[in-house]
Amino acid sequence: MAQSSIEWTEMTWNPTTGCDKLSAGCKHCYAEVMAKRLQAMGIEKYKDGFKIRTHESALHTPYTWKGQRVVFVNSMSDLFHKKVPLEFIQKVFKTMNETQHVYQVLTKRADLLLDYDKQLKWAHNIWMGVSVENSKVMHRIDLLRQTAAKVKFLSCEPLIGPLPNINLEGIDWVIVGGESGRKPRRMDVDWVLDIQQQCEEAGVKFFFKQWGGTNKKKTGRELNGRTYDEMPSIEQLEAVKL
Ligand code: SF4
Repeated sequence: MAQSSIEWTEMTWNPTTGCDKLSAGCKHCYAEVMAKRLQAMGIEKYKDGFKIRTHESALHTPYTWKGQRVVFVNSMSDLFHKKVPLEFIQKVFKTMNETQHVYQVLTKRADLLLDYDKQLKWAHNIWMGVSVENSKVMHRIDLLRQTAAKVKFLSCEPLIGPLPNINLEGIDWVIVGGESGRKPRRMDVDWVLDIQQQCEEAGVKFFFKQWGGTNKKKTGRELNGRTYDEMPSIEQLEAVKL
């Protein structure tokens, strides 16, 4: 595990590593760059670079964490990549079901997520999200909606196109963020305002992560003169579980 600088989580846990690019949001994949850097540094877990690998030894790590942590699962991979065996995904879910932490799982492979859904056990502490970077991949939301995940969210990051008329039924949380790095793609302020409005009207929690750009510290994360840091309430979910 590692502490994370990502604004909407506390730490990362990577029981699998590696991936393949799938859609436009993958163009400047941070995980790929990092995996290659860690491979060059001789880090054992990344000896195969960005190839999909499962890590049995990582399955036990969350049992050792004290308290309740908020954990982004697989910042360096996609758990629902077709090369990750269902049996291994079930082991990841076993760990998540048996520990008290809040797990944020995010995928672009919503089709395989739905295929496996009935063979997975969904506790309230497992939040399931899909990436929606532009309107071409909005079908992922419909696939997510059909799963039995108790908390469902969208990560619209990097947002590279407008997302009009999102069907937010059954969706608990939306994260929006612009691309950063050396050649970031443009995010229009109107796209962000529209999503924020849609969330407000639908009563869905909204988190604005960043404007991004080549200097994300400078562009910051204010929208409408304020920050938006809403998240599903962990306490509330605990109450539902009891
Ligand atoms: S799905 Fe995620 S981890 Fe995989 S290539 Fe795309 S951005 Fe990278």
